[in-house]
Parts: sequence; C-alpha cells; structure tokens
Amino acid sequence: MADIKCSVENCEFNGKKFCHASAIEVATNGHAFNAQSSEETICRTFRPKK
Ligand code: SF4
Repeated sequence: MADIKCSVENCEFNGKKFCHASAIEVATNGHAFNAQSSEETICRTFRPKK
C-alpha cells in the first residue's frame, strides 16, 4: 500500500503520523454528495485507540 501520511494520532492504525492499515475507505462527509474540498471527506477506517 502507498504511504499514507495521517495526523490523526489517536487512531489505532496510526504510527508516527503514518497509516498502517492494510486498506482504508474514504467517503464524502455528512450530506455532501460530491465533495468540493478535503474538509468534505472522511476516513471511514478510523478506530479510536483503546
Ligand atoms: S485509518 Fe484513517 S484515520 Fe486512521 S491512521 Fe489510517 S488514514 Fe488515519
């Protein structure tokens, strides 16, 4: 998988600001059907660190 830099350090897949999940799913956020900016996208693979 390509290197994915991610600053969500409280995600269980995050290590040193990189994503270590084998795959991730990204989708539009909320009501947006066609995202117009990165703020309108979310990572659905996020899981809070226990
Ligand atoms: S799963 Fe998503 S939120 Fe978690 S580290 Fe990977 S890219 Fe970031």
